[in-house]
Amino acid sequence: MEFRDLKCQYLHHKAQIDAAIMAVLERGDFIGGAPVASLEQKLADYVGVNYCVSCANGTDALQLALMAWGTGPGDAVFVPDFTFFSTAEAVALCGATPVFVDVDAKTFNMDVESLEHAVNTVIRKGRLKLKAIIGVDLFGLPADYGRIRRIAEKHQMKLLEDAAQGFGGRIREKRAGSFGDIATTSFFPAKPLGCYGDGGALFTDDAAVRDLLVSLKVHGKGTDKYDNVRIGMNSRLDTVQAAVLLEKMRLFEQFELEAVNRVAGWYESALRGRIDIPVISKEYYSSWAQYTILLENGAMRDNVQKALEKQGIPTMIYYKKPLHKQRAFVDEEKDCSCPITEELCNRVLSLPIHPYLKQEEVEGIAEKLLRCI
Ligand SMILES: *Cc1c(COP(=O)(O)O)cnc(C)c1O
Repeated sequence: MEFRDLKCQYLHHKAQIDAAIMAVLERGDFIGGAPVASLEQKLADYVGVNYCVSCANGTDALQLALMAWGTGPGDAVFVPDFTFFSTAEAVALCGATPVFVDVDAKTFNMDVESLEHAVNTVIRKGRLKLKAIIGVDLFGLPADYGRIRRIAEKHQMKLLEDAAQGFGGRIREKRAGSFGDIATTSFFPAKPLGCYGDGGALFTDDAAVRDLLVSLKVHGKGTDKYDNVRIGMNSRLDTVQAAVLLEKMRLFEQFELEAVNRVAGWYESALRGRIDIPVISKEYYSSWAQYTILLENGAMRDNVQKALEKQGIPTMIYYKKPLHKQRAFVDEEKDCSCPITEELCNRVLSLPIHPYLKQEEVEGIAEKLLRCI
């Protein structure tokens, strides 16, 4: 068994995916080919925003968004302490300061009271300018954007949605990728919508922001890439990846998103009441980038992981370390207090999940898990 079986998906749809890749090879339009624009249109329509701008990966997408807002030294950008490194790395790459915010013990997403507290602390110290909040749709579940947006507006900050794991999730009928002033996603192979290498995209309703992002991702181009009006990056999505994504997007919409929710439902039926499982509040829908349970404590978690591994069940720990404890952020760490994140880092364990997992397999994993505890 694999933690996230990407080969299984490929084998199910080999003919269409091979044909899409071959068509690019035959045309030779490796950069900026027709599939790139088609994909951007398709994704913008799906997410429900005016514009999608593709780029090289989800980390560049975050950096491009922050660059578009002129984020730089002296700016405070609020990020959850419990997320993948990129979310805060992009802030530091712009020269700004990531301010770590604790998360909610149930949803694992940015905790709104901790956010308010962190904002007030920055105001009181008066050293940094309030710039932006990055909400993360962790493990596929959108953050509480209703309340986060109110805080952003109150303090005139930008809201960036990091939907690298969230693509396909929603709150009521509003889809992930539409909650931020800009939203970003990643097509890293193991994300809910993944390609066969690196890829990423940004979403926005604002035409001026869209134009700026298009310039920034191609060397700060003006009328063309040999007319350079600002410092940018080289961050494009390859045509081959766009072609793969167009095929995979069709599968994602047709059945994969529902299938992965069915898998989560099987876990829930088998584990509810026996162990701490993810809770999806009413009106929220997850794309299940991960299925993450909580064990009683660190020792128990590590034992369970080892025992499952012996029985051929791969699991992962997302994430082992709060961001504020990463060595790269020693300078930022000083007065950060994120007790929930610290506890989660000790207790979380992510189980295998993907749309092609069968009911028997899920029940087998659940049974072995329950026997371990
Ligand atoms: C994967 C991920 C990213 C970065 O995406 P890449 O395409 O790997 O650069 C950013 N934020 C979060 C929350 C992620 O999970």
